[in-house]
Amino acid sequence: MNTKEILDYDKGHVWHPYASMRNPIPPYVVDSASGVHLRLADGRELIDGMSSWWAVVHGYNNAVMNEAVKLQLEKMSHVMFGGFTHEPAVSLAKRLVEITPKRLDKVFFCDSGSVSVEVAMKMALQYWRARGLKSKSRFATARGGYHGDTWNAMSVCDPVNGMHGLFTGALAPQFFAPRPFTRFGGTWDDSDFSPMRELLYSHRDEIAAVIIEPIVQGAGGMWFYHPKYLSLLREACDEMGILLILDEIATGFGRAGEMFAENYAGVEADIMCLGKALTGGYMSFAATIASDDVACTISDGEPGLFMHGPTFMANPLACAAANASLDLILNGDTIAKVRRIQGKLEEGLNPLISRNSVSDVRVLGAIGVVQTKEPVDIKGVQERLVECGVWLRPFGHLIYTMPAYISSDSDIEKICAAIGEALD
Ligand SMILES: *Cc1c(COP(=O)(O)O)cnc(C)c1O
Repeated sequence: MNTKEILDYDKGHVWHPYASMRNPIPPYVVDSASGVHLRLADGRELIDGMSSWWAVVHGYNNAVMNEAVKLQLEKMSHVMFGGFTHEPAVSLAKRLVEITPKRLDKVFFCDSGSVSVEVAMKMALQYWRARGLKSKSRFATARGGYHGDTWNAMSVCDPVNGMHGLFTGALAPQFFAPRPFTRFGGTWDDSDFSPMRELLYSHRDEIAAVIIEPIVQGAGGMWFYHPKYLSLLREACDEMGILLILDEIATGFGRAGEMFAENYAGVEADIMCLGKALTGGYMSFAATIASDDVACTISDGEPGLFMHGPTFMANPLACAAANASLDLILNGDTIAKVRRIQGKLEEGLNPLISRNSVSDVRVLGAIGVVQTKEPVDIKGVQERLVECGVWLRPFGHLIYTMPAYISSDSDIEKICAAIGEALD
């Protein structure tokens, strides 16, 4: 198909994320990608400032990743996980158990981030049922969160961004505390956590778990909150008999400047969700990791099983990609790279706070955010960014970047300069 044919058929028949099938903003046709560069069908090259939504941390067409996937492809691309196991899965589980906080040591592999959230929520329910506490079947979270688009994941997304109004009566009603307001690096204010504490206390007999993105609220508004909130949350959950699910799908593997964002608060989850960068962005894959207590309690209760098992569970190709990605992360000074990028992002973005159109600039790890006073004209801003040779996908009042860890100083400079241009 030529570019025009692709675009015409796409427009008529292919859904895109959060898109209308009537007059959607036309997409760009991407033909290939290498390193930090996306090559469009018309020959233009763009620096990918989005890492394809947090995922492609080692860049595209990475030689080490390619080799690992090719080797696995020639052995077996897939086999069912019911009744079988294989080296790529076990080897990956071992790496994950080793690098995640100590308490987490039972790994459930699944297909995507949203599914890993469903799995985590189901684990929490089965845990309390196994302990004979059926009334603990609801979830609490903070506003401004994002946990995926499947049904139960959606029920714990921010009710406004997640358009809960549209699904009233159909979504499970959950408990929402206000968004943590003390920013990362700001002065902690004890009143920040009080509403969450009160909510948990009043409903502790109904709440199975709190689910939250540690430190970085991503798709719900790119907000970085104070680690103290997370440590108080851990304490409150322990005190009130509530499980803590930490959704590290966006922040895992160094993105926020620590291997896991929860490390900033020194807390451990009872259940942790990983996804996005897990396979270095090579394919859809995720993991839900539970504590021994969660896994064994579920297994000791009725029916003695955890009731979940996706068709593509522990897909060997995805495991091979994840193993290669983790080797690159563990042997590659990842945290130092991310902190270098943080420095460059601060240098490039902090001065933009003086622009009239800008209300806030914040940077944490390899995440840079410019918040605007007026909603961003997405189409116009994106066109300007593309003219500058940079790919970003702004939303709401946010123009933001989370570049690949292999980005050079000059790549980051170009991304920041393009944001500056687009603000004009
Ligand atoms: C992207 C994301 C998800 C959902 O993952 P998918 O792979 O898109 O299903 C869940 N939680 C967080 C924090 C995310 O950023």
